[in-house]
Amino acid sequence: MEPVSFPPLSRVAICGGTHGNEMSGVYIVREMQKQKVDQKGSVSITTVLSNPRAVDACIRYTETDLNRCFTDALLSGPITDSTPYELRRARELNAQLGPKGSREAVDLLCDLHNTTANMGMCLILYSFDWISLHIYKYIQSKMTSPPVRAILFDIPSSEAYSLESVGKHGFTIEVGPQPHGVLRADIFNMAKEAMDLSIEWLQKFNSGSAFEGGEVEGYTLVRSVDYPRDPTTNDITAAIHPQLQDNDFKLLHKGDPVFQSFSGETVKHEGEDLYPLFVNECAYYEKKIAFHLTKKITVTLPSISVKAD
Ligand SMILES: [Zn+2]
Repeated sequence: MEPVSFPPLSRVAICGGTHGNEMSGVYIVREMQKQKVDQKGSVSITTVLSNPRAVDACIRYTETDLNRCFTDALLSGPITDSTPYELRRARELNAQLGPKGSREAVDLLCDLHNTTANMGMCLILYSFDWISLHIYKYIQSKMTSPPVRAILFDIPSSEAYSLESVGKHGFTIEVGPQPHGVLRADIFNMAKEAMDLSIEWLQKFNSGSAFEGGEVEGYTLVRSVDYPRDPTTNDITAAIHPQLQDNDFKLLHKGDPVFQSFSGETVKHEGEDLYPLFVNECAYYEKKIAFHLTKKITVTLPSISVKAD
């Protein structure tokens, strides 16, 4: 594979509170603002509390999910009296950290999230971007205690709906399990370490270090599974089965239990073997998702270095 080079990556945005009750990011950003962290070596750092109203109320969002507001269509559509707060806030964030797709956009946008699912330390990438994939590889090589995994989407930039799509490069750091509205030091430490390693990678990259290519593994979405529901009332009729609960990333085989109905019956996994993730994520009940099913893929990375002037 041919080596690739990119211009220096000198501007990074660290965002927390995009979902106002995901506490690691809220407190990492507040602490950085308190300590006035705005530069580390060659990297200038902008810290942002993305959804301050939701953070104040300690809720995911006030009117609509901010992390679904960053498509080109939503960022450029008309604003009226009935436009939700989060959509207005998305415009502000796009003006501050973007504009999305422009030369002025920050070089890397790192958005800090928590999940109630037992996902451990996870990066979410919305495109197969060499910079983000190399940072993932670096974090994986440096963080030895928990497994570090990546979920890989491949969404065109114009349709990418999440905050990090505003940066030239970007990803979500998703760490769990942590109940929404709760702070756990172990989860906080993992999120902070991954963020610090991302900035460390940028400094090394800017100073001329070459990073070897190689292979990384990731998980791509096959389909999402909803809870079994009563066809008349639409109420859920089952919970995640105890054998699936907390077993994110553990391969599901045909016949493995996935739900336990309230009348005591077991619902089994059907079809091909797949990896479940975001199992029983609190915020996905409203999205009618009990868990995602994914398959594991391997991505080959080119070696990478900074482009000389
Ligand atoms: Zn979130």
